[in-house]
Amino acid sequence: MGDPLGNEMIEAADQLYEKMIAYDPTIDGSRLRRAFIFGMEAHEGQIRASGQPYFTHPIAVANLLVDMNLDLDTVITALLHDTVEDCDVTLGALDKAFGSSVAQLVDGVTKLSRIGRQTEKNSLQAENFRKLLLAMSEDVRVLLIKLADRTHNMHTISHIQKPEKRVRIARETLEIYAPLAERIGVTNLQKTLEDAAFSVLHEEMYQTINARLDYMVQESEIIIPMISVELQDVVERGGVECSVTGRLKSAYSIWRKMQRKKVTIDQLSDMMAFRVLVPDVADCYRALGSIHAAYPNVMGRFKDYISTPKRNGYQSLHTGVIGPENHKIEIQVRTPEMHSVAEFGVAAHWNYNDPGSEENISKFKWIQELVGILDEEAGAEEFLEHTKMDLYHDQVFCFTPRGDLIALPKGATAVDFAYAVHSKVGEKCCGVRINGKNRQLATELENGDKIEIITKASARPLAEWENFVKTGRAKSGIRRVVRAERAVEFSRVGRSILQKSFSEAGKRLQKRTLDKIPQIFGVQKPEDIFALIGEGRMQPEIVLEKLYPDLAKSKRRTKTVDNTKRHQANSRESLLTIQGINPGIAITMARCCHPLPGEDIIGIFTTGKGVTVHRADCANLVDFNDMPELWMDVGWEYEGPKRVMGRLNAVLSNEPGALAAVATIIGQQGGNISNIQLSERNADFFSFKLDLEVKDVEHMRTIIAALQANNFVERVERSNTG
Ligand code: MN
Repeated sequence: MGDPLGNEMIEAADQLYEKMIAYDPTIDGSRLRRAFIFGMEAHEGQIRASGQPYFTHPIAVANLLVDMNLDLDTVITALLHDTVEDCDVTLGALDKAFGSSVAQLVDGVTKLSRIGRQTEKNSLQAENFRKLLLAMSEDVRVLLIKLADRTHNMHTISHIQKPEKRVRIARETLEIYAPLAERIGVTNLQKTLEDAAFSVLHEEMYQTINARLDYMVQESEIIIPMISVELQDVVERGGVECSVTGRLKSAYSIWRKMQRKKVTIDQLSDMMAFRVLVPDVADCYRALGSIHAAYPNVMGRFKDYISTPKRNGYQSLHTGVIGPENHKIEIQVRTPEMHSVAEFGVAAHWNYNDPGSEENISKFKWIQELVGILDEEAGAEEFLEHTKMDLYHDQVFCFTPRGDLIALPKGATAVDFAYAVHSKVGEKCCGVRINGKNRQLATELENGDKIEIITKASARPLAEWENFVKTGRAKSGIRRVVRAERAVEFSRVGRSILQKSFSEAGKRLQKRTLDKIPQIFGVQKPEDIFALIGEGRMQPEIVLEKLYPDLAKSKRRTKTVDNTKRHQANSRESLLTIQGINPGIAITMARCCHPLPGEDIIGIFTTGKGVTVHRADCANLVDFNDMPELWMDVGWEYEGPKRVMGRLNAVLSNEPGALAAVATIIGQQGGNISNIQLSERNADFFSFKLDLEVKDVEHMRTIIAALQANNFVERVERSNTG
């Protein structure tokens, strides 16, 4: 044993170092070597599906990144990228051995790897998934490492035994990773990923095309150099220095073209592509002029990606011509800089010496645009802070149990998610499990969370949900239900008010009478008018007058105060005296806010109901803003130790003894529990409404303070809704 590095490993480590020092002479060779040993020891004894030692994989990934001239931290991360997920290595250990930058990068790659795509989905799903990966790759290098990782895994995919697993990985590669590579402009990885995935998904077609390509290779061994020389001659005679390379197209791109044009492989003539590299932009157009002058061009093949770059930053001139010896060929003309961007995209602009340098930041400006494309609405905000890609900082992506991915605005909650799945799910949701754990419906979601909404047929949205939901869809859904419920309530009240007015006028509210209402008032159903009356927006007398015009003539509009006397007798709460209200008027404590003696209060006069007393800060008072005539100045009148009911919302941790502790505290403070209603319960907590009889608001405050001091109590507050 002795040397921890076997001979092969020494060779691999040396090769990597040689390649790196060629583009960055300042590289710290001992740090690279330490990473090598660290990774090899961590993966000791692990074997790839191919039968090779596992560490051959991180080495291959590192090499792909070195080929793109990336910095040392990136290469070290590549060597260690699987150590946290597959070995017992902790991020802390990596931080200690290689610094926080490497630890963060490894953490980023690990997180991406843990997000598995569960099922095959439509293209919208794939798009969301790509966004999720981008949102999670805070540092662009994380994504580059992940793409290199996937590239090597695709190289070795034939070693995976199960065909369905190969297909799943290949499809994921084609739908998710290749487009991501394209979008950040890393064409070399994109092409490899596409071709490898294609070979798995369409094995026969891949074989057929490759057989044809193999045949052409023999021919092209002569043809390609021949055409290259002739093209170079044409361009240089036009006064532009250039170098020309030619190649056969990839199997995947040929297949795509066959599909797009609906032709067979025999009908596809242009399988050869040539690249003309010239010194500068002006030369590109001059070279193109020479080529078009020398050969007939193929209609519709010319594209100017220099004046209008592709959205990933790609620039080149494209054309198709009938070239030497009547070969139909494709030609790309570009400068060396354009070429570097075309191959390596984001990585082409990487300053490996100082990732956070001003130079890198300014170079990354174009990436802002490049990635901005992923979301047209994202705008020109600061996407990148130093090397950070703060993409989709305003969005969050979560999974349904079936693996559907749902995009929501940042800060969105489980209720938003439920409504995003379906408005029916939103309306019936009563709980949520996030990553398998019971959580509150108001919990803010995080990227990659798996959300399982629990529904119940009897569940309905609560008005207070509106306070925490983020999406318009959830807001309007909640509002719609709350409004409908309120309308039902108002119409019930309105109907009884109307009934009373009718009986006072000696009339009966019969179906026959009601049937006339819609036509007279231009509404859909009588309930609409009831609701208006219940809300106090219409006087019942108006209905009477319209239905019985005779009554209007001898109109004697009763002031309803007199009529409320009889209600007084059975109104329990009217035992309480309120200043500013004539004795004899029924008093009701508002059920929305349960005012307590000692608090500022407001009376609202309601036709047929007397006065409803609200807390002065009750949110529902806004409903009466445009009816100042209903407002009454009222105050408490003390006469002895009377008790009133107040309501609390409390959230307790779900532990044995919690409720008993709460009951004890309330008793010690002289309060009296009159009712408890559980509203939500799960593994971690339960919340409920607590009705207490207390002396006054001071008394209630003391009880709340005592409750808040208890460990079992997560939250306790005055209820502001019924
Ligand atoms: Mn890996």
